Amino acid sequence: MDILTVNDRPGQYPASYYAATASFLPPFATAEGDISCDVCVVGGGYAGLSAALHLAEQGLDVVLLEAHRVGFGASGRNGGQVGTGQRVGQEDLEKAVGMARAQQLWDMSLDSVALVRELIARHRISCGWADGIIEADHRKRDVAGSHAHAEHMNKIYDYHLIRALSSQEIRDLVGSNDYHGGTLDMGGGHLHPLNYALGLARAAQAAGVRIFENSRVVRLKAGCPARLATQTAQVTADHVALAMNGYHGDLVPPLGRRIMPINNFIVATAPLGEQAKTIIRDNHAVADSRFVINYFRLSQDQRLLFGGGESYGYRFPRDIAAVVRKPMRKVFPQLREVRIDYAWGGTLGITRSRMPSFLRLNGNILSIGGFSGHGVAMATLAGKILADGIAGQAGRFDLMADLPAPDFPGGTVLRWPLLVLAMSWYALRDRL
Ligand SMILES: Cc1cc2nc3c(=O)[nH]c(=O)nc-3n(C[C@H](O)[C@H](O)[C@H](O)COP(=O)(O)OP(=O)(O)OC[C@H]3O[C@@H](n4cnc5c(N)ncnc54)[C@H](O)[C@@H]3O)c2cc1C
Repeated sequence: MDILTVNDRPGQYPASYYAATASFLPPFATAEGDISCDVCVVGGGYAGLSAALHLAEQGLDVVLLEAHRVGFGASGRNGGQVGTGQRVGQEDLEKAVGMARAQQLWDMSLDSVALVRELIARHRISCGWADGIIEADHRKRDVAGSHAHAEHMNKIYDYHLIRALSSQEIRDLVGSNDYHGGTLDMGGGHLHPLNYALGLARAAQAAGVRIFENSRVVRLKAGCPARLATQTAQVTADHVALAMNGYHGDLVPPLGRRIMPINNFIVATAPLGEQAKTIIRDNHAVADSRFVINYFRLSQDQRLLFGGGESYGYRFPRDIAAVVRKPMRKVFPQLREVRIDYAWGGTLGITRSRMPSFLRLNGNILSIGGFSGHGVAMATLAGKILADGIAGQAGRFDLMADLPAPDFPGGTVLRWPLLVLAMSWYALRDRL
């Protein structure tokens, strides 16, 4: 099964709310003939675009090859939530890697959000940034833990943009009886993900990156230089940056053991008008405490964008709207009759540890990916870290590459069924 084509038409964005409201760039050409460069970046999501932009800013000659269109992958389809922290909770990180490293990972997460904000400002990317992310507890018994977390971040990390929300406060902010408390982090925010990706592409092009679309890499031969082939071009590069995330297929086998593709789905309702403020009062983004997370926010034209309902087959379900409507109705029964105007899916890459994968495959072939559903900011920063690594400052790349990164068990045949089993078990626990 080819994950790059199984759910999508070649060279086309999915029919999402984001594609319907995107500020598209003129299409980039397909790569043809013999091309040589200092660095060849594979993949035109946040990670690849940020890597390419930062490499070009350091004076390197950069070619970016994208199988479909820039922002075609998870970067053009996601929930748009830009969170602080890593995908793994800070207290769990402290236990796993010790206090000093946990502090570095926290600082890195703040850098990642700051980088997104800086890129938006510096390159005048119009993507509707709004402040604030609410973590909402769907079980009463989780509220004390959330409040302790806010206090921990205030005291231990001197981070004061996060605060506890009582049951009354969360009900004032989010029009649902499903939640009993939580936290509000004003250090995070949300944005239009596809317009952010397109803005990064525009900035990379202006910095001198040669971007090619409809240019899928079908072969990679390690060496100095490395050689890459698409159907219509051969690229010779001193360095290669792989940023294919969940769409890596079998191009580079070690990535298959590290990064597992899973699908996730979003719907956009019809514009809610005045009702929007009764759903989310202050235009924050919201993510809840379920293992199969529900996440939602308002669009700039006052639709509810609601994500939820993972599926663990390669193929998207036939009726995505019906899949997402279920959790949406549970959280917001008052939207039972509201029209769904758009429904789409995307593939993200997860790792076993849920920490991003930074991998040195060869001296001159580096890979970043596996942001585990927490990649808007981290993939952007990973691209910069990779660029610094290639330009000679490998400190932060090596720090990330050194994190424990267990392979998924099961070999090629069993890996996927085992993941489905594990995920289904955890999803079941949401209901207990
Ligand atoms: C539905 C959904 C909701 C999400 N919500 C959030 C959220 O709210 N907040 C958050 O932080 N994260 C979220 N994520 C995760 C986030 O979108 C990703 O972590 C992030 O976009 C990863 O960026 P990337 O550049 O690594 O990968 P991608 O954006 O997936 O880009 C990879 C690119 O590589 C290309 N490619 C693959 N193979 C080849 C090849 N052989 N040759 C050429 N090109 C190739 C693909 O076409 C693709 O464009 C969500 C993901 C999904 C799918």
